[in-house]
Amino acid sequence: MRVFTGSLSTETNTFAPLPTSLEDFADRGYYPAGTHPPEMTIFSGPLWAARQRGAQHGWTVIEGMAAGAQPSGITTRHAYETLRDELLRDLRQALPVDMVVLGLHGAMVADGYEDCEGDLLARVRAIVGPDVAVGAELDPHCHLSDAMVSNANMLVAYKEYPHTDIRERALELVDFCAAIVERRIAPVAAVVDCEMVVTIRTPQEPARSYIDRLSALEGKDGILSISLMHGFPWGDVPNMGTKLLVYADGDAGVAQSLARRLADELIGMRECLTPACPDMDQAIDQALACGVTPVVIADAADNPGGGGAGDATFMLRRLHERGIQDVAVGPLWDPVAVRVAFSAGVGARLPLRIGGKIGPMSGEPIDLPCAVKALVPDMIMTGLSGSPAAVGNAALVEADGIEIVLISVRAQALHTDVFTQLGCRLDEKALIVVKSAQHFHAAFSQVARHIIYADAPGSAALDLRTLPYRRAQRPKWPIDGRDI
Ligand SMILES: [Zn+2]
Repeated sequence: MRVFTGSLSTETNTFAPLPTSLEDFADRGYYPAGTHPPEMTIFSGPLWAARQRGAQHGWTVIEGMAAGAQPSGITTRHAYETLRDELLRDLRQALPVDMVVLGLHGAMVADGYEDCEGDLLARVRAIVGPDVAVGAELDPHCHLSDAMVSNANMLVAYKEYPHTDIRERALELVDFCAAIVERRIAPVAAVVDCEMVVTIRTPQEPARSYIDRLSALEGKDGILSISLMHGFPWGDVPNMGTKLLVYADGDAGVAQSLARRLADELIGMRECLTPACPDMDQAIDQALACGVTPVVIADAADNPGGGGAGDATFMLRRLHERGIQDVAVGPLWDPVAVRVAFSAGVGARLPLRIGGKIGPMSGEPIDLPCAVKALVPDMIMTGLSGSPAAVGNAALVEADGIEIVLISVRAQALHTDVFTQLGCRLDEKALIVVKSAQHFHAAFSQVARHIIYADAPGSAALDLRTLPYRRAQRPKWPIDGRDI
């Protein structure tokens, strides 16, 4: 068996001000063909899985380019076309192949391309022809399109949010594609559009039981695979929205009726899945009233994982104005402030201008009298499913009882070690404010006594009715009201 693998992945917030360029892929991970390191990255699950299975079964695995960028604004045409064409060139050079497995996100939008993954998969299909098994692993925050489904034999999305199951789903994908090559299965797909877009935090009920039911249905009664696409509401494209994707073995009717039933079940629980979030002051009040510490507040609207700049100061300013102490905040992206902190050195006291640089959705910069407590060059945080995540140079500064982690490469709070590597004692804090919408949950729930999701201003604002949609298919719940 000859297997080609590679990846091209980012999640595009079309409302965010920062463009996504080739440099942004270089920052997070750009590996030309054959140069991917031994560890899996967030976007290279299928490459990692193809290596595992290839070693077990004696396959020839040809590794093409793998590239992934931190979610941000629209990808430049130059970046998308350059990376796409590099991956396709690698594929052509690898021919003939029996299987192509790609690590994609599914919500990449580039200048001139509203459906990058549909475009890429169509080109892959045109190169390999109809008889090669083509599969991709997707993030459930994707815009599932007809072009993606029709040009792939199998698409598998992570089931968990936080995405803790990238390896398991990648192995499944590779195993399905091997079964297709060996003609042991013949997957047929059904997609049902739920005409809504919901956030589904899988550790919490009722999402937990729903996801467990999906897993229990797989492998029985002709059902091969079920993926629940949450959708990504900060991507204003026609295909945005929550969708069920079901693959049955050879029987389209079975796939369609199950997809419809599961979609109806999900639509019935959508109100429970999306509780209203408190604003900044309500979140701080709730945290202080808890009576236990530490309390984690998620500043989801400035989540770099959702395309937020990661330098918004709204929450930090409010905490400082209210004189709240024993607080940790971070990671806040500010390469200039990091540079100043590194120049000053550990132990220095200096006035520091922090954050608020990228645009109105970042707020105003905040000037604080800071002490530099720790500096770590080229810090690596533990990322999703145990993959390494670079945050660049990192500094811990303190002002008036608030410790702030500053980083030079945009990243969300994926793990507590983005604080603890700098000596920040999270267990001694009253409040921990993280730049993250949900991925923080896996690690921070180990230290948090309580977790609050706050709705502060930002590029990934939680109240979708405030976003200026132009391209998304409408009507869609809850954008067009909560009663449709
Ligand atoms: Zn995601």
